[in-house]
Amino acid sequence: MSSPVWHPYAHIKTQTPAPRVVGGSGAHFELESGERLLDATCSWWCMIHGYSHPRLVAAIREQAGTLCHVMLGGLTHEPADQLARELVRITPAGLNHVFYSDSGSVGMEVAMKMALQYQVLSGRPGKCKMLSLMKAYHGDTTGCMAVCDPEEGMHSLFAGLLPKHHFAPAPTAPFDASPEQVEADLNALRSILERHHAEIAALLMEPLLQAAGGLNMTSPAYLRGARALCDEFGVLLVFDEVATGFGRTGKLFAADHAGVTPDIMVLSKGLTGGYLGHAATLATDRVHAAFIGDSAQHAFMHGPTFMGNPLACRVALESLRVFEEEDYLGKIAMLNQTLKRELLDDRALNAHPAVADVRVLGATAVIETHTADALAGVASFARQRGVWLRPFGRWLYTMPAYITSPAEMAQITDVMKAWFTED
Ligand SMILES: *Cc1c(COP(=O)(O)O)cnc(C)c1O
Repeated sequence: MSSPVWHPYAHIKTQTPAPRVVGGSGAHFELESGERLLDATCSWWCMIHGYSHPRLVAAIREQAGTLCHVMLGGLTHEPADQLARELVRITPAGLNHVFYSDSGSVGMEVAMKMALQYQVLSGRPGKCKMLSLMKAYHGDTTGCMAVCDPEEGMHSLFAGLLPKHHFAPAPTAPFDASPEQVEADLNALRSILERHHAEIAALLMEPLLQAAGGLNMTSPAYLRGARALCDEFGVLLVFDEVATGFGRTGKLFAADHAGVTPDIMVLSKGLTGGYLGHAATLATDRVHAAFIGDSAQHAFMHGPTFMGNPLACRVALESLRVFEEEDYLGKIAMLNQTLKRELLDDRALNAHPAVADVRVLGATAVIETHTADALAGVASFARQRGVWLRPFGRWLYTMPAYITSPAEMAQITDVMKAWFTED
């Protein structure tokens, strides 16, 4: 019997029936069929503690017994206050104000509205466009689609609906690039800012790792250069750390690699350890101060129903405690070692004719192929070997849960390599 559930990014005519998940623990989930699959993607990169983590489950249970939800309009509660204080503590210095919402896309919508309103309130109403990067992905809502890569970003069908923004080339310098290598990328950014800064409110970027746009990685020097350019041209810098936040690049935030504080930063995915949908848009004192004034225009007119949901805030607090108490950055460094050894240093893989590039950053690894055809069938190949992989386009990647053991990590990389090297 076919289900009325309409699946995301699915081609209805050719899709195979979705396997039914009945539970999970640690890095594995279990199917109705009895199969146990090792999740190489931690459910779209958010289940950083794996499934059924006892402390996260207990936190939700406990909070549910006290308060499941209350509006944040005109009211507050302890989990929202406490989480905001914790986010201010752990994010780059200067981000002192927290606006909650319910998903990464909405968190980015909030960031864009905040940036534009900041410019209006600062006497620069002409700055009403965004500057984004090619290969960017910032979400699926209408405002976000307009700042995703306009050609490869899945949304070209909707071009007629979308406002026009500015785009700079995707950075090409790798993570460990020399200053000279980064210069070309920064010059490209500069030339667009020189021409269009008068109408640009903010530069948006996924720092260091453009995730859904093809796992494109770049250098901390690029972030520092972008920060300087934004200051020079009176443009706010917005870091979309929805995917990179909470350890994915090897530090707590990608911004930490560069020692850069963006004006606005967006967190979601790993924020709640993946256990509930939520997001936070953080702003500096400078941005926040512009909203202090007497006119009706000074109020920030946004307020998702479920913003600051107590269950989500409470589980996010528990997620952070586990992250710090159990040295997750240490675990991520171990995963990184395995990924480098098994993928970057594997000659046969790197020399395979179908493989265009292999990249590793923190707890993220990708094998990029020359054509998408080279990956046709890899998901079922992996499933037969007990691993859940879900490649997209030309990218076969893993972003495992941080509790994935070294042996499990090697099981994932073995399957990724076997697809290319096994007869
Ligand atoms: C996933 C993602 C989003 C969108 O988040 P949703 O919760 O799916 O709306 C935005 N930006 C980045 C970088 C993402 O990876």
